[in-house]
Amino acid sequence: MTTAMHWAFDNTYARELEGYYEPWQPAASPDPTLVALNDALAGELALDPSWLRSDDGLAVLVGNTVPDGAEPIAQAYSGHQFGYLSPMLGDGRAVLLGELIDGNGNRRDISFKGSGRTPFSRGGDGKAVLGPVLREYVVGEAMHALGIPTTRALAAVTTGETVLREQGMLPGAILTRVASSHLRVGTFEMANHHGSPEHVRKLADYAIARHYPELDAGDHAGFLSAVVTRQAELIAAWMSIGFIHGVMNSDNMTISGETIDYGPCAFMDAYDDQRVFSSIDTGGRYRYANQPPIAVWNLSLLAETLVPLIADNTVVDDGRRPAETSQDEDVRKQAIDDAIADATRRVEAFAPQCSDAYLRRFRAKLGLQGKDAADQQLVDELLSIMKLNQADFTGTFRRLAKVLGGEADAVRERITDVTTYDAWQAKWLDRLGEQDHATTAKQMDAVNPVYIPRNHLVEQALQAAVDGELGPFEQLLDAVTDPFTERPGLERYAEPAPDGFTDRYVTFCGT
Ligand code: AMP
Ligand code: MG
Repeated sequence: MTTAMHWAFDNTYARELEGYYEPWQPAASPDPTLVALNDALAGELALDPSWLRSDDGLAVLVGNTVPDGAEPIAQAYSGHQFGYLSPMLGDGRAVLLGELIDGNGNRRDISFKGSGRTPFSRGGDGKAVLGPVLREYVVGEAMHALGIPTTRALAAVTTGETVLREQGMLPGAILTRVASSHLRVGTFEMANHHGSPEHVRKLADYAIARHYPELDAGDHAGFLSAVVTRQAELIAAWMSIGFIHGVMNSDNMTISGETIDYGPCAFMDAYDDQRVFSSIDTGGRYRYANQPPIAVWNLSLLAETLVPLIADNTVVDDGRRPAETSQDEDVRKQAIDDAIADATRRVEAFAPQCSDAYLRRFRAKLGLQGKDAADQQLVDELLSIMKLNQADFTGTFRRLAKVLGGEADAVRERITDVTTYDAWQAKWLDRLGEQDHATTAKQMDAVNPVYIPRNHLVEQALQAAVDGELGPFEQLLDAVTDPFTERPGLERYAEPAPDGFTDRYVTFCGT
């Protein structure tokens, strides 16, 4: 017999940010079946996995029972989608159940994706289907295993309903998503468009307390810089593993610095800095190489909402009155101009921070100790060789360590233009100089994954799952959640897609 479980919810968002959500119940599901449960994450959350597997647990995971202490809400947010403002987006197919304090004392949002219509659904059905739910599950868990900040999947369940999508009737599903919060750049845009600087202040102060407690309360300029820094680190991390998010709309950029919303995302196989997979990204706005500038674009939207607060923190000459509320028009105007200049500088700090983080990560990928002024060029040269030879991004970096292990041809054998490559390899070995090869190879293997969720394998696994066969999904999950350890029997997970696959491969947003 199972007993009802106590979930230690403490719902600060619902309590402190009235007006930023609608109370909302998840829709009931007729015939739930558990498809995947993340035992390790359940453990972190102090939830008992065997209870979650029981009928009572499943009823919670599918939204049929709302656990004690939960206050389900649909969050409101705006966002710029492909550069254009959508004044009201919000959780159209998601519900935030509440906030749990995990075993390490961290506050984690527990939410459902695909739990039915909400006041923000507009024309949508509020549902999700199994394939994209499992895609978010496996890619998010791979990102986590790669050490990249991300929202995570606690569970995937089918609801027993079928849902109409372009491809036909598909199994409905719900993802239980865990996030350090769901605050987005778009949440700030909503406070700004539908509220006032005072609404933004309330939100910013909430975000500072929740995600940047090291800052002084009310340090809105510092807050902007802190978000910029986290995003610079995040985007550099994406670039270092060949990840393309695919839909970096401002509603899909978190304040916490976690990756969110695995819709049309993909890992590149053959390296091409212009790679884009998303069916709707016809202009290539969210292509691989454009991710840093797009992050800056999104961060300037956040900055815009914070300008009045930064101005308000500027103290006028008499040293007492905040400039923005000063009665003197000129003083106010000057304070705003100064705040714009300050915010601009803070957003512009993204580029050098992201480049530094990028170079730090690529130095590690090449095993380079110390810093040499020519390191960036060494990286660039390898990337351009990879691009010309359509070399596999993940495989090339992983194989470089084998060169140090004595397999001199490990990379060369997969390159067409070997002359240029040989010259590069000699230069790289020269740069490694006296470094011990065995130690360096080990360090490289700790940052260059052997297994990533390769597009062709993800597609196979999801199709099999939709056809009722979960084996391929479970094997893929097993490979990518221990990405740095090469294991016998998993060879096909390390190989690039069959010829021609990548050129035809297109990803879709729709969950
Ligand atoms: P996303 O592509 O996940 O970033 O979603 C963009 C917006 O569309 C969000 O406001 C979603 O809640 C909403 N949305 C996406 N799919 C659906 C759906 N099937 N039903 C209702 N709203 C949806
Ligand atoms: Mg989204």
